[in-house]
Amino acid sequence: MADCIFCRIVAGELPSTRVYEDDLVFAFEDINPQAPVHVVIVPKRHIATLNDLQPGDETTTGRLIHAAAWIARERNIAEPGYRTIFNVNRDGGQVVYHIHLHLLGGRKLKTPLA
Ligand code: AMP
Ligand code: ZN
Repeated sequence: MADCIFCRIVAGELPSTRVYEDDLVFAFEDINPQAPVHVVIVPKRHIATLNDLQPGDETTTGRLIHAAAWIARERNIAEPGYRTIFNVNRDGGQVVYHIHLHLLGGRKLKTPLA
């Protein structure tokens, strides 16, 4: 998707601070962090929203969660804890239409969210 900023980040056409990468997913620092740790984890393949998941996407979506857990350990927030969020469409506050898992931590997060 040429006009998708996260596809362009994955392709290296836009700059990002890479945190993690494997064959299926790419993670980078959020440009507007809401917590001391705020990493965005995306599938390398364009999927607009969770509503657009297809059978067969389970490995990719599972990998997003495993990457979040790995990054949390690396950043030493696994034990104190952290939050993972998928925003979906307007009411969910989705701004970038390429699915992404937010990993937030490094401070006590407010309930219910962020
Ligand atoms: P969402 O509201 O769930 O769509 O979140 C989109 C997230 O992407 C926000 O937290 C933005 O700060 C972040 N973001 C947008 N553009 C960039 C970028 N070029 N590099 C890193 N993070 C970005
Ligand atoms: Zn995309």
